[in-house]
Amino acid sequence: MNEIKRTKVSHLLTRRDFGTEVLVKGWVRTRRGSKAVSFIALNDGSTIKNVQIVADLDRFDEELMKQITTGACISVRGTVVESIGSGQAVEIQASEIVLLGACPADYPMQKKGQTFEYMRQYAHMRLRTNTFGAVMRIRHNMAFAIHKFFHDRGFFYFHTPLITASDCEGAGQMFQVTTLDLNRVAKSGKVDYNEDFFGKPASLTVSGQLEGELGATALGAIYTFGPTFRAENSNTPRHLSEFWMIEPEISFMDLPELMDLEEEFIKYCVQWALDNCADDLEFLNSMIDKSLIERLRSVVNTEFVRLSYTEGIEILKKAISEGRKFEFPCEWGDDLASEHERYLVEEYFRKPVIMTHYPKAIKAFYMKIDEVNPVLEGKEMAQTVQGTDVLFPQIGEIIGGSVREEDYDKLMGEIESRGIPMKDMWWYLDTRRFGSCPHAGFGLGFERLILFVTGMQNIRDVIPFPRTPRSAEF
Ligand code: ATP
Ligand code: MN
Repeated sequence: MNEIKRTKVSHLLTRRDFGTEVLVKGWVRTRRGSKAVSFIALNDGSTIKNVQIVADLDRFDEELMKQITTGACISVRGTVVESIGSGQAVEIQASEIVLLGACPADYPMQKKGQTFEYMRQYAHMRLRTNTFGAVMRIRHNMAFAIHKFFHDRGFFYFHTPLITASDCEGAGQMFQVTTLDLNRVAKSGKVDYNEDFFGKPASLTVSGQLEGELGATALGAIYTFGPTFRAENSNTPRHLSEFWMIEPEISFMDLPELMDLEEEFIKYCVQWALDNCADDLEFLNSMIDKSLIERLRSVVNTEFVRLSYTEGIEILKKAISEGRKFEFPCEWGDDLASEHERYLVEEYFRKPVIMTHYPKAIKAFYMKIDEVNPVLEGKEMAQTVQGTDVLFPQIGEIIGGSVREEDYDKLMGEIESRGIPMKDMWWYLDTRRFGSCPHAGFGLGFERLILFVTGMQNIRDVIPFPRTPRSAEF
């Protein structure tokens, strides 16, 4: 037989050249039919859609056909024919079927309609389901859109290290990296970091920002896009121990420009999904969340609210005085809990909110301090900083960003008053010593964006292999 090239299902379904011979390969989703004919729904991962294979049973070996069960991998040669019943315009009349991989009955994804908790136990196999296929294709598209967005605007993709010896955002939540033999260390009763691989304590990064600032103050505008590690023991549907972060950093950018960039960036990504992931979004809209597409469209078409923290507190306190109950308090100075953020976004404004000018004490040391203190109920409040959190429906915080303090003395003042160990950070301070420049940036949690765009509820279900406390099996 003459060799023909494999056609992907995504391409095949667009073809109308009836009568042409094709070769498709993929996994059996379902099989139904009668004694005379079988209808096989075949999926090869290129699209959410299946192609229907029609197999007249008198043409195929009975033993072979027995093995064509859900999950089996097959190769099919046949002709493209017009379809009436498959839900697609075309189907394949099979002339040859080869079993590439049988799939015994203990295939964990055999049954439809399993819960996501169940599927998480089989994270290595759940990728073969419709939902995870859709989520992973959207994830790819979002990564591509992010690179395109920044590339088109003259940002450079800048690679910051994953292993770091600087401990700037609080030691408690970092994973230590060591080649020391912990059993031996335990026996000797003391740690000698001189003997460790880097000659000093090292960790996995919690953020590429500080190194990103080095890039931005040389290249003008950069972005990072890489994995980030946090050892915090927060078992929530919005936290992972290993997640991907996008961190643009831009010289000469002020607060209004930063907010414009944050808003434009998110809208671009969401619009990209609407334009390029229609089939997968329609699937998720019908199976996971009936208001998904409507929500995505509304985000693209609304102007985000821009609100100071102090104004936000005012709104929340008013709601409380009118009887709205919250689990956590929210006095000026408190870090907002996700219930507060969601009240503002989902109930009060009903659109995304960019919150700014937070109390200095609840934000990082590098944020630029505001010149004027806010006033609440006639009272002057403590200092605020030019931080911006973008708050989203369903998700809460999706972006955290700020204008950076570029003044050496002010930055040093914060570092000292907070008791931040800076002995390994001299290189960061050098950005402020040599040709310091105003600059700003933000961090977007990639998986939080995917949660929003897919309508999935749990962050463990939008990354192929989730890492969370006590869970790193696959
Ligand atoms: P949160 O308050 O939600 O814990 P954070 O303030 O600690 O987040 P940042 O340090 O500002 O987060 O990180 C920037 C962005 O990274 C956040 O806006 C969020 O989108 C994402 N992010 C932070 N922590 C996690 C995590 N553990 N898993 C997934 N994404 C995260
Ligand atoms: Mn934050």
